[in-house]
Amino acid sequence: MPDVLVLVDHDRGTPKKVSLQLLTAARERGGGAVAAALFGEGAASGAEKLGAYGVATAYVWDSPDAAAYATEPQVAALEAALEASAADVLLYPADPFLTDVIARAAVRLEAGVVTDAVDLTLEGDRLVATKAIFGGEMTSRCQVRGDRPQFLGVKANSFAAVESGGAPAEVVALDVTLDDTARRARVVDVVVTPSGGRPEMTEASVIVAGGRGLGDAEGFRLVEQLADALGAAVGASRAATDAGWYPHQHQIGQTGKTVAPQLYIGAGISGAIQHRAGMQTSQTIVAINKDAEAPIFAIADLAIVGDLYKILPPLIEEVAKRRA
Ligand SMILES: Cc1cc2nc3c(=O)[nH]c(=O)nc-3n(C[C@H](O)[C@H](O)[C@H](O)COP(=O)(O)OP(=O)(O)OC[C@H]3O[C@@H](n4cnc5c(N)ncnc54)[C@H](O)[C@@H]3O)c2cc1C
Repeated sequence: MPDVLVLVDHDRGTPKKVSLQLLTAARERGGGAVAAALFGEGAASGAEKLGAYGVATAYVWDSPDAAAYATEPQVAALEAALEASAADVLLYPADPFLTDVIARAAVRLEAGVVTDAVDLTLEGDRLVATKAIFGGEMTSRCQVRGDRPQFLGVKANSFAAVESGGAPAEVVALDVTLDDTARRARVVDVVVTPSGGRPEMTEASVIVAGGRGLGDAEGFRLVEQLADALGAAVGASRAATDAGWYPHQHQIGQTGKTVAPQLYIGAGISGAIQHRAGMQTSQTIVAINKDAEAPIFAIADLAIVGDLYKILPPLIEEVAKRRA
């Protein structure tokens, strides 16, 4: 049974949903000891609570230096956590920034890396990662061979986050020393894109998404109104983001984000394979499209055939009335 270290992404000690999903995967699919690594300010405040997800030991580096310099400090901290935990496998959220950290650490430690896993299975004493390829049309199964550390990147929402009700985690402070090389690139500014008070897509339990069928950028006001009435995040198809109707960070799909909310509502989205690759594991899918043959209806739990401009306004009104 492999011992697994999970690199926990957090916001001042509050773990992101994807990290809780990975801890659950480590516990359920790994079978060995589960440890966590948390870096950055506030890391220590959230570490003990990870025991609820089966974490025996949390290795923390609670330092502003983690975010003050690009990449290198996190690499140093990750190396320290891997050494201290002696884990066989590192699970990390498949996220662009972390991918940079992982790549450097993997070269230094001669680890094997599998990116973008959507499932994990235990075969012998090794975890095998399943990847969805060609927009989800095919899957491939990948295993790190040889006697080397295994770094497995897992996509958000590939697993449900389930508490195990364990004892508080033992918190171990890491001793991370940064040399001048690690301080070469300093972060001078961080610009947070305004979210309009809406939840982040990969964290949201409800998403309302719009596509080319909206006709123009103005059409997204309706999508936003329904999202706000439901307390949901706003998503978009690539056709909509490429047209400049909505920011690219809201794109769902193969080249966008993978989401798996409890409820996904798509309006004016045809359901191309590349879009479905990013949302088809949503628990309940509601699709609004004027074309009864639209491919998205093949995976929809509720298919509403009609003009979204006639369907959305009364729907927004009704939801707002019921939630008032
Ligand atoms: C390599 C590659 C990667 C890609 N990655 C992504 C990705 O990550 N995400 C993604 O979304 N796409 C991606 N695409 C693009 C994808 O193939 C589709 O082109 C795109 O998803 C289509 O977006 P859409 O559904 O909004 O538009 P369309 O396919 O044009 O569909 C619009 C739909 O709106 C309906 N409609 C029109 N008017 C109304 C109305 N008034 N009321 C109700 N329904 C209406 C139409 O019937 C139609 O079904 C990728 C493509 C490639 C080649």
